[in-house]
This record gives sequence, C-alpha cells and structure tokens, in this order.
Amino acid sequence: MTTRALSALLSFITTVFSAAFILPVKAAPVQASEQSVVIFSLDGFRWDYIEKHNAKNLALLAAQGVRAEYLEPVYPTKTFPNHLSIITGLLPSNHGIVGNHFCDKDRNQCYKMGHGQDDSSWLKGIPLWNLAQMQGLKAATYFWPESDARFNGMTPSYYYHYSKHSDYQQRIDQIIQWLKLPEQTRPRFVAGYFSLVDTMGHDFGPDAQQTYEAVQKVDKLIGQLARRIQREVEQDVNLIIVSDHGMAQLDPERSLQLSDLGIDLSDFIVKNSGTQVWLYKQPNTEVDLQEVRAQLKRNARGRYDILSEETLKNRGVTIDATTADIVIETQAPRYFAYDDKDKHYGTHGFAVTQDMHATFVAVGPAFKQGVKIGPVKNLDIYPVVAQILGLDLLSEVDGTGASLLPALRH
Ligand code: AMP
Ligand code: ZN
Ligand code: ZN
Repeated sequence: MTTRALSALLSFITTVFSAAFILPVKAAPVQASEQSVVIFSLDGFRWDYIEKHNAKNLALLAAQGVRAEYLEPVYPTKTFPNHLSIITGLLPSNHGIVGNHFCDKDRNQCYKMGHGQDDSSWLKGIPLWNLAQMQGLKAATYFWPESDARFNGMTPSYYYHYSKHSDYQQRIDQIIQWLKLPEQTRPRFVAGYFSLVDTMGHDFGPDAQQTYEAVQKVDKLIGQLARRIQREVEQDVNLIIVSDHGMAQLDPERSLQLSDLGIDLSDFIVKNSGTQVWLYKQPNTEVDLQEVRAQLKRNARGRYDILSEETLKNRGVTIDATTADIVIETQAPRYFAYDDKDKHYGTHGFAVTQDMHATFVAVGPAFKQGVKIGPVKNLDIYPVVAQILGLDLLSEVDGTGASLLPALRH
C-alpha cells in the first residue's frame, strides 16, 4: 500500500471510529432540569493515566467534552473520604468518613470501609442520589462507597450491595437498562464504580503492565457505556468520569514495619498502614503521649514525620474525636508495612501532591465541547451536578462549584 493510500485509510478509520463516540449534543441546549447525569468512578485512575496507559476512549470523550488538568482530591487521599466528598460536597470532617479506617473517641467505636450499611450514624450530608430523590427524581447506584447505606433514612431508589468481583459488563448493562426505563421509573442520577485500576496500581505500581491492562479494560467499558448511551438511550445524558485519587510508586525494599517505630504499640489502637499510621490511645491506659511523640521523633531519622494539629488543619481536617492522638506519615517510595510479607508497589493517602491527583472527564449537553480546563476540586462536583439536574442544594456544602463552572455551556 502506498503512503497516500495508507494515510487515506487511517483517516477513514479515524473518522468512523470517532463518529461512533459522539454523544448527542443538541444545537439548542435543553432545559437543565430535563437532563440526566451518570457519574462513573474509576478508583485510583491517576490524572496522567489517559496518556500514560493510552486510554483511547477516555481521550476521545475528553476531546468531545471537557477534561480537567486534574481532579484535586481531599485529604486524606483515600477511597472512602474522597468518594464521600464527591457525592456530598463536604470535607471528610463534615461528612464524617475521615479515613477508610478510623476511631471515634467519644463513641468509643471504630469505623471501617462499608460500615455505614450496618450503622448509618457514621454518615452525614445529603448524597447526590438522596438530593435527587428528595426533589422527586429517581436515582440509582451500581456501587459507590456507602451507596448501600441509609443516609437520612434513605437508600438510592435502585442500588446493589457492594461486591468487589461482581461482573464489570453487568454493571454497564444494568446502567443502560436503568436509563432505558419508562420515564416514571427511570433514574435521572446514576452512579457507577470500578476498583480494578486501583487494585493493580497497589499490587504492581502505577507504571506496570498490569496497570496498563487494567486501564485498557476499564477504558473499553467506558467507551461502550458512552456509545450505548448515544445509541440506545433517548434522554439527554451527561456522562462524568472521575477518580478518587492517584497512585505513587513504592519501593518494598524501603518499607517500614510497625515494629520499626520503636514504641510499645499495645498502648494504642492502631489504624491504617501504607502512607500513615494513626494511633488512638487505648481507653484506660496511662500512656504519656508527649513522651511517645518524643520517642518517635528520636527514632524517625528522616524516615517519617509526626503530623501536628496545625498541619492537619492546613489540610482541611477539623480536630475532633475522630482525630488520632498521634498521626505518623511517611513519603513515597517508603510505606508502612504490617509485616515483612506486606509487599506492594503503589499506594495513595499522602498529602495532596501531584501523584495523588485524580481524573475528571465530562461529556454531554451541559458541557462545553473539546475544552480543557484547569484543576477542578472534587468538592465542586456536587453543586454543579445539582445545577445540571435542576436541584436545589438543601444544605450548606464545602464546594462552591467555581472550579467546574468553566466546563458548563451556560
Ligand atoms: P483503598 O484502600 O483506599 O485503596 O480502597 C479501595 C478499596 O475499596 C477497593 O479495593 C474496593 O474494593 C473497596 N471498596 C470500594 N467501594 C466499596 C464499598 N462500597 N464497600 C466496601 N468496599 C469498597
Ligand atoms: Zn480509591
Ligand atoms: Zn487504593
């Protein structure tokens, strides 16, 4: 084949391929209150994975809609605090889920991921699915942290209990089916979630072949979701792809074990590992916290820091009963391991640095076409989605929407 023929063929393929992805964008924008929103979270999908791992479908959606330079997570850059901040518009101290694992010294109880289903008193705020339902719309979730819990006594209209290994294709099929329901029963707000990219990032590192393959898999499924919304769904859908945080490369040779801290851990309830260790004084122990802090500092030798209340406040934390008595933080490529078998190559949870930045891509009638915008705060998604759905904010939230407004058509 001649170079010209090859180039003509490539151009033809590109045209056909791209055309397949365009979501219907009407010339005159529809009434905001008629639109639907599908928000899909790709856990641990770092801000630069679209290029790094050649996510063609996401790149095409970004080219047709809006892409943020990065989505700025909240501290701590963990899955549950960030998903709940996206879905409630509140800082972790305000929605209550300040970590994947934490204790509350007043309640004398500890929380772990997914615990809201058994005891919803851990959860505060009005998630977007409830905000929609409270104003007469239906809402559905095919997984989102704490989406099977009762916030304010309500679950989403349609939802599933979390199961990490449930089939990914089935999640897409169900979302399409929901969007095709008759008007009376069809959800106008839908949330979806895949954990695979995060899992591979932890096990093999952000640059690994396995992480590339995970990105390829979820990218294809998101491309399929976008195409099927275009072909099979009647109403105007805005598809928003987000992630909760990024991923930093670790070096297992430089891991620190909890026993390396040189203190008697039996005086404490120990929560978390990886980037941080949170120590809560055991009730009824006489341990001298100042002395333990001094001991930890003497033993640190540049390998970790003890975070002050000032530092935590600067990261958006309200010091309260959920704040650990001692917070110890290390920096990638170091991490805290439970024992010498705890080897992995990626993690997140650090302060908000470049490696922790997440992804934001949106396409649909509410969004501009082919626009790149600056960093978006994940807290700003809530008020903007409410606006697209024509919903009133029924309570004060921490996001103003300002960083995402440049993405909107009007
Ligand atoms: P992280 O430790 O921050 O990396 O958390 C990621 C893990 O959260 C993933 O492996 C998921 O399986 C888990 N996860 C995500 N959503 C839920 C949920 N709704 N309930 C329980 N676990 C979840
Ligand atoms: Zn996550
Ligand atoms: Zn993770």
